[in-house]
Amino acid sequence: MSKQAYKFRLYPTRKQIHTLTWTLERARELYNAALQERRDAYRMAGNHITYYDQANQLPDIKAIREEYRDIHSQVLQDVLRKADKAFKAFFARCKRGTTPGFPRFKGRNHFDSITYPQGGFSLTHDSRVCLSKIGSIKIKLHREIKGTIKTCTIKREGEGWYVVFACEVEQEPLEVCHEAVGIDLGLLHFATLSDGSTIENPRYYRKGEQKLERLQQSLARKKRGSARRKKAVKQVAKAHRKVANQRRDFLHKASDSLVQSYGLMVFEELQPAHMSKRPKPKQDANGTYLPNGAAAKGGLNKSIVDAGWAMFQQFCTYKAANAGRDVLFVNPRYTSQSCSGCGQVRKKELSERWHSCECGTELDRDHNAAINILALGRSVQGNLRSPAIHG
Ligand SMILES: [Zn+2]
Repeated sequence: MSKQAYKFRLYPTRKQIHTLTWTLERARELYNAALQERRDAYRMAGNHITYYDQANQLPDIKAIREEYRDIHSQVLQDVLRKADKAFKAFFARCKRGTTPGFPRFKGRNHFDSITYPQGGFSLTHDSRVCLSKIGSIKIKLHREIKGTIKTCTIKREGEGWYVVFACEVEQEPLEVCHEAVGIDLGLLHFATLSDGSTIENPRYYRKGEQKLERLQQSLARKKRGSARRKKAVKQVAKAHRKVANQRRDFLHKASDSLVQSYGLMVFEELQPAHMSKRPKPKQDANGTYLPNGAAAKGGLNKSIVDAGWAMFQQFCTYKAANAGRDVLFVNPRYTSQSCSGCGQVRKKELSERWHSCECGTELDRDHNAAINILALGRSVQGNLRSPAIHG
């Protein structure tokens, strides 16, 4: 049994947005009240109030504040669980002796999600999610949901609304597969496999990145404190979220397909030095910059690429574990310098896209690296499997 979360965009109507916002505000109020009660009890009497103490008060709260009847009771219980969790973390910090600091109250518009922990929600066949006390909201189901939906969380991110389904997946064991693959992650291609094929960043994703970069630059030119700057900050945040969501979806799809196809996946370990390596821009005699093979990615964009690689490896690792398949990480040293044909090490500039060796081996640089990565992975696996020799 494994857990998996699916996140989808919601398209609430104006009226539904109003209801959702209203519900979040009530949830925030309840959360803050729950914290307050716990803080007071702790400060005045050193008492610990439990989740159940507070949950038992919900009927009384509904009697006095009738509007709380318009919120699904499990959603309210979940808010109290959040407060409980925050306090447990606080006590854990106290125990560790770190400066504790009480759990903080949530300010207006800073309570951004509610959860239906068991029921009160359903998914219809015409792509809508029905939420008790809120209504039926249009949803964009861009991925197939596998497993049983356990909880349903509605999230506000900036001006967008999302639903996250936490699922439990009864893992059907995949058939044993002896296919192995070496995977070289790069800038030009997202990944190059040892069979020479590549996984490309989707076009819409690159477009989103470019837009983000443009907005980021425009933000940098805005005067501090100005209304224009505030607007630009919002735009950047929105573009950022969009890119992050697209990236996650792409990485899910790419990792799904690798885990389906291979019994062993070998990656290079990502290292800080490895992550920041980037071709230096070349200058010609006139001082003009020449294209250097990998599109000159820098700053924010570069960090997004790095985060993508780490996330991809993480997705592959847990999915492989669930499917009973293997992922190995090897030392990235020499993987792009060694010849996959004869093993000779030959220093290459990062801008050199082609691997050409005296032994006659001719192939794409990343393809050569992917073959080396696979070979290293196989030898590591061999070492793991060979029985220890006792003298
Ligand atoms: Zn060679």
